Amino acid sequence: MGSRNGSGGAVPESAWDRALHLIRQSDEIALACHVTPDGDALGSMLAVAFVLRSMGKRVVASFGDRHFAVPRLLRFLPGQEMLVPPEDYPAAPELMITFDTSTFERLGLLSDNTARAREVIVLDHHPSNAAFGTLALIDAKAAATAMLAEQLIYRLGGRLDRDIATCLYAGLVTDTGSFRYPSTTPAVHQMAARLVAMGLRTDEIARELWDRSPFGALKVLAAALDRVTLEGGLVWTYITRVDRAAYGLPYAELEGIIDIVRRTDEAEVAVVLKEDDQGAWQVSTRSKGTVDVGAACAALGGGGHHNAAGYTSHDSVEDTMAALRRELGKV
Ligand code: AMP
Ligand code: MN
Ligand code: MN
Repeated sequence: MGSRNGSGGAVPESAWDRALHLIRQSDEIALACHVTPDGDALGSMLAVAFVLRSMGKRVVASFGDRHFAVPRLLRFLPGQEMLVPPEDYPAAPELMITFDTSTFERLGLLSDNTARAREVIVLDHHPSNAAFGTLALIDAKAAATAMLAEQLIYRLGGRLDRDIATCLYAGLVTDTGSFRYPSTTPAVHQMAARLVAMGLRTDEIARELWDRSPFGALKVLAAALDRVTLEGGLVWTYITRVDRAAYGLPYAELEGIIDIVRRTDEAEVAVVLKEDDQGAWQVSTRSKGTVDVGAACAALGGGGHHNAAGYTSHDSVEDTMAALRRELGKV
């Protein structure tokens, strides 16, 4: 115990050694994170991109969204000039590293490139990770992929600077819910201290991430709350494309709604169905601890963690909720 901070915890030394070897012998390294990236996915990837670039590597970084755009919440992150759209990504990279990505499908448009890559290092903290690559650097106890990214950076001989620390901090603070979730161990706070010591304006980062939004986001939130339903220990609502279109609100702006819905004292599980631009339902689920929503979502083709998970549904709202209720009844 207590070794996660120092030695990488669940990741065997032999896996770190192999990762360092692969990285050192590669001139070009292709990085990818999961679609509709959150702070952990994009922050971890950009932090490592900075370090690889300073080692003299050619670096490309991307994520496989059909409409390639960095979510507004994350536009404050430095290093975005290293991002390329999926169509400019190497077709068959020699070496890829994936960040915060639990399944092949979560790579979206980049899944074919990944299938053709010679080596794929998977850096992740999802317990449900399918270990789809050729080398797994996975620690399911880590609060964020950013913790593994920091380890990788130190092992490569890299040093933190303000930009790298900003990216890693975005990952740490996002995935711990601002240091509120039970994953917030002493090692999390110790890492935060190292990052903040680089001169971060944590107040500005928090404001970018959570304390601002366009006016339309309030109106869409109002629509979501207007139709919120409490049934037994389940609280749920949905947001359609039409709700968003009225205010020109991008899908990514819906991320915070689950955090309001899940406050409900009477509910153990909270669910928000978000219709994306293609008309599919992206289902966000949260548990207060007794119900394993990760298992329920995995059974429905998605994944995640015990208390926070998701999946994609192509059924109606009614059918989606019926299937989810069935799975929640089993876990
Ligand atoms: P979200 O509700 O989008 O914030 O996602 C919560 C957790 O569920 C995250 O850890 C995601 O990695 C995971 N997750 C969300 N959507 C999916 C999906 N379609 N497939 C697999 N995992 C997902
Ligand atoms: Mn993520
Ligand atoms: Mn994560």
